[in-house]
Amino acid sequence: MSLPPALAAYLNQALELGLMALGFFILSLMVKGARAISDARAAASETRNNLALYVLDTLTVAPALTLATATLYALMHAPGAVYAGEVVWARIGPIGTGIAAVAICDFLGYCNHRLYHTALLWPSHAIHHSDTKLSWLSLLRMHPFDRLGTL
Ligand SMILES: [Zn+2]
Repeated sequence: MSLPPALAAYLNQALELGLMALGFFILSLMVKGARAISDARAAASETRNNLALYVLDTLTVAPALTLATATLYALMHAPGAVYAGEVVWARIGPIGTGIAAVAICDFLGYCNHRLYHTALLWPSHAIHHSDTKLSWLSLLRMHPFDRLGTL
């Protein structure tokens, strides 16, 4: 019996998240020793909140973002469609493209995050900074409106 592709992808994503959690826990044990266990217990409530928000996001916002991304990709690669980026990337080569992509994406990510700290967007972004026990899972704590800006 094979699973529907969407369910298989979801379970694969959950498995990857579980493997990352295990990796971070082992790293935490190596760095903190026994204190890693008491720290994990103290963060359990916030971890449950972060995972619940992640599941909610995966079931609601992520499919819409995936559809929007696929549509944008299809438009960019439609027959006859030419966007200036292809010409620029071909001219600067793969190493230049890699460096430019990291620099541009990092700069745009920074600018995007700064925008979320303005009075207008802070109400939806505040949940991202509301974790009282900061961990790697805190990144998953996002308001749906906040996620729309991560496209
Ligand atoms: Zn922020």
